[in-house]
Amino acid sequence: MIRILILGSAAGGGLPQWNCACVNCVAARSGKIDPQTQSSIAISGDSEEFQNSWLINASPDLPRQLESTARLQPRRNASRNTPVAGVLSTNADIDHALGLLLLRQQEKPLLVYAADETRAALAWLDRTLARFCGIEWRKISSDFQRLTGSIAFRAIELPQSVAFQFRDEASGRLALVAPAVSDLTRDLSKASAGNDVILFDGTFWNDDELAAVRPGARSAREMNHLPIRGGSLDFLRRSPARRKIYTHINNTNPILMPGSPERAELEQAGIEVARDGLEILL
Ligand SMILES: [Zn+2]
Ligand SMILES: [Zn+2]
Repeated sequence: MIRILILGSAAGGGLPQWNCACVNCVAARSGKIDPQTQSSIAISGDSEEFQNSWLINASPDLPRQLESTARLQPRRNASRNTPVAGVLSTNADIDHALGLLLLRQQEKPLLVYAADETRAALAWLDRTLARFCGIEWRKISSDFQRLTGSIAFRAIELPQSVAFQFRDEASGRLALVAPAVSDLTRDLSKASAGNDVILFDGTFWNDDELAAVRPGARSAREMNHLPIRGGSLDFLRRSPARRKIYTHINNTNPILMPGSPERAELEQAGIEVARDGLEILL
């Protein structure tokens, strides 16, 4: 069995974002919709205790996310310990990497699986952490390698990031976790076949969404996020996966508002919207 737990479902900035007064951020501040923390996912095997959990990306909200999840808190049988085994990085974005810095109190070096490009872009963080626990970098591969228990994983290289696919060696079940997708490449399309669950980049609904709140802002595609409309929606609609879930959702995205036409379109397409604390078992 594979347990996937959404620790944070928001894109960089979170919901609400400290300097944003868009419709969704205002609604989150007034309690009309639930706040969401920045993108991170915990994955573990079948042990009920969540021992050896791996994180996919480490957001600036990580200490709070771990503290609010009982299974990810330290055990009481030793003064310093953690069930967090390490981190799988999709890319070097601040909202995916800053959490590594916040794990600096770790006793042993932090284990981080990442592409060479991500490692190079995070050299500053590597240098800073060298004075604390340090990082032990591990290579990713397009072939499956063992992660923990019966879970194997592999990386699917994308133009500016990677997606990860997990396989339960006992059941053969597959999960695709792709929170940062700039393009539907051939490899990604191929990898998306046969998954039970797909977690996909839901940062923006429209390509020009951010310009509405910040004139002159870069487009979704320029920020390496394929928008939902005209981008990933048809792809996910056609996918036979049992569960299809958008995550890494920017606070400007209209799918966050229950009752919006955009949310209704997803519901009709059988696609879910992630939220903090959502757990998926496969
Ligand atoms: Zn991000
Ligand atoms: Zn906002």
